[in-house]
Amino acid sequence: PSLNCNNIIMNGNRNNRRIRNGSSHISHINAVKVDQSLVSEDDEDFVLPSKDFAAQANVQSHQQYLEMYKRSIEDPSGFWSDIASEFYWKQKWGDKVYDENLDIRKGKIKIEWFKGGITNMCYNCLDRNIEAGLGDKIAIYWEGNEPGLDGSLTYSQLRDQVSQVANYLKDIGVKKGDTVIIYMPMLMELPITMLACARIGAIHSVVFAGFSAEALTQRIVDCKPKVVVSCNAVKRGSKTIHLKDIVDAAINDSAQNGVSVDVSLVYENPVALKRVDTKWKEGRDIWWQDVIPSYSTNCPVEWVDAEDPLFILYTSGSTGKPKGVVHTTGGYMVYTATTFKYAFDYKPSDIYWCTADCGWITGHSYITYGPMLNGASVLVYEGTPNYPDAGRCWDIVDKYKVTIFYTAPTLVRSLMRDGDEYVTRYSRKSLRVLGSVGEPINPSAWRWFYDVVGDSKCPISDTWWQTESGGFMITPLPGTWPQKPGSATFPFFGVQTAIVDEKGVELEGECSGYLCVKSSWPGAFRTLYGDHERYETTYFKPFANYYFSGDGCKRDKDGYYWLTGRVDDVINVSGHRIGTAEVESALVSHPKCAEAAVVGVEHEVKGQGIYAFVTLVDGVPYSQELRKELILAVRQQIGAFAAPDKIHWAPSLPKTRSGKIIRRVLRKIASKQVDELGDTSTLADPNVINQLIELADS
Ligand code: ATP
Ligand code: MG
Repeated sequence: PSLNCNNIIMNGNRNNRRIRNGSSHISHINAVKVDQSLVSEDDEDFVLPSKDFAAQANVQSHQQYLEMYKRSIEDPSGFWSDIASEFYWKQKWGDKVYDENLDIRKGKIKIEWFKGGITNMCYNCLDRNIEAGLGDKIAIYWEGNEPGLDGSLTYSQLRDQVSQVANYLKDIGVKKGDTVIIYMPMLMELPITMLACARIGAIHSVVFAGFSAEALTQRIVDCKPKVVVSCNAVKRGSKTIHLKDIVDAAINDSAQNGVSVDVSLVYENPVALKRVDTKWKEGRDIWWQDVIPSYSTNCPVEWVDAEDPLFILYTSGSTGKPKGVVHTTGGYMVYTATTFKYAFDYKPSDIYWCTADCGWITGHSYITYGPMLNGASVLVYEGTPNYPDAGRCWDIVDKYKVTIFYTAPTLVRSLMRDGDEYVTRYSRKSLRVLGSVGEPINPSAWRWFYDVVGDSKCPISDTWWQTESGGFMITPLPGTWPQKPGSATFPFFGVQTAIVDEKGVELEGECSGYLCVKSSWPGAFRTLYGDHERYETTYFKPFANYYFSGDGCKRDKDGYYWLTGRVDDVINVSGHRIGTAEVESALVSHPKCAEAAVVGVEHEVKGQGIYAFVTLVDGVPYSQELRKELILAVRQQIGAFAAPDKIHWAPSLPKTRSGKIIRRVLRKIASKQVDELGDTSTLADPNVINQLIELADS
């Protein structure tokens, strides 16, 4: 279905009504049509959940959601403390469940949840579940890069290994509050090390093991770890990457910058590189396998305050220099567990697979903590999703009978480009819930994911959230209400979203503007590491008394939320404010277009013109004909005002290492300012830029 052109314009004064008195937040989501009985089967905006799915769902109707949501907003203390009570607390929190100040005019921004409560994240993920009888349940299934290479750990085995690492870390002097950098591929040892840090109250900072020495150095210098835990090498697809060389270079560069790392613990990954072939520095470098197995499998936990930091994680850097986001223990624990359970309709029999890397927030909240707090069986995959071929994901799904599959739009688009046969060749019968995160998912990619991958029976949880939010903020609850392809639907429990205009006035009903949050939620980040001022100015200053997400959003007539892209990327054509997502989705709906990214460029008449980078489906040649068809697709689906002025053929697009398109780099290429590209250290493949520059006039 095409996007309704009235809804897509980010225009502050046309369709928008302003809230005059008080909050009518709950009425925003009291959508007219979400009652399934009001939606007819052939209303093409909606995709209805099956009756069978709805009947077994954790939340079975929109009405039930509204009741729970209402309580979560009206009585956050009661709502969240009831849930928190299901976890283990050595000592209960103080009088206040939460304490917050989001208004910079009133003083320092502060968010606290469950303060005074004494607990431990690792204990709640492992010991608590083992005591509840899950000791022999598989916690982690591990699938290696090479088909046939695999392993698994039960909850008890996992606790043994975590304890050994924790005891080692304590032995070399890592104490509560110390920082540990983890630079590892997706081996089981990665979540093991995260949990080991949590067990002893150390703060982990996982750095995605695809980052360069320079990026790793930046992070070492910023958070000054006692130890760096890494791995000598890894196979990614058919390539071998010498991770330890990168670590060595980063440790040396950090020393030049006055930060020395005394211990480098290295896991030997003989499949990729043998010990004898690994460069070594005696005294600093320690082989994991030489020390860890000799430690006791019994490690008492270090009890920490709910507000003690659990980890520092740098954002993926789509908009510039990464920010060191700090999450604390108690609120994050309660929030990740709850969002996981509801947004994926989790059941104890599920086999859950998230294709993200633990180097991103998704891997923290929804590979390690959220699932394990629920006692789930989690699949950890080491390799790339299209190795040895584009069918690998479905091969893995069938092998482990995966029931919940969570991935990113970039992967969906790339698999779609490879053709249906790679999917339909596999059964995929076990799948029941699909998920998407990272960017807005184009409606045509949504349809493909739903129809081809999920055989038109699996709800898709398009989860909108951020490193900063710790967990899902706007997300469907599977089976609970009808979906609209491309919409993240409604806010999660306890999340008071607000769409505001440029002056920070909250808009009501059908509207479009800046996406903010009015009050804190348990999983919210508490500061940026070492820079509370940047925290305040980036997120709380733009709109007084709101957390500002940086994203644009519209709400349609039925109350559904649609993310329109980052507000920095909004394009203003002759006074029409146009989100990047809509134009890209219109382009991607053309069967020959695999991927698209649009940016604004200066335009004499219109103020800004629309410049579109387009990647075609494999084997399709560039042609003027196709250029016209693509422009026509946008004219028809959105309107003439949104028609691209330029189509720039792009063999591939510049992306962050987590797969997000970096539009700020594309803007520079489009306006021919190629010597002002800015920070490109977060780019997955810097060569893409030269390719694009060469094709500028073709
Ligand atoms: P940086 O903040 O360093 O520029 P980043 O914003 O890409 O990097 P993340 O925290 O990993 O870092 O990504 C969060 C952002 O990803 C959101 O603000 C939003 O723009 C986008 N996003 C995530 N999930 C969705 C989704 N389901 N729909 C639309 N956009 C999404
Ligand atoms: Mg961001």
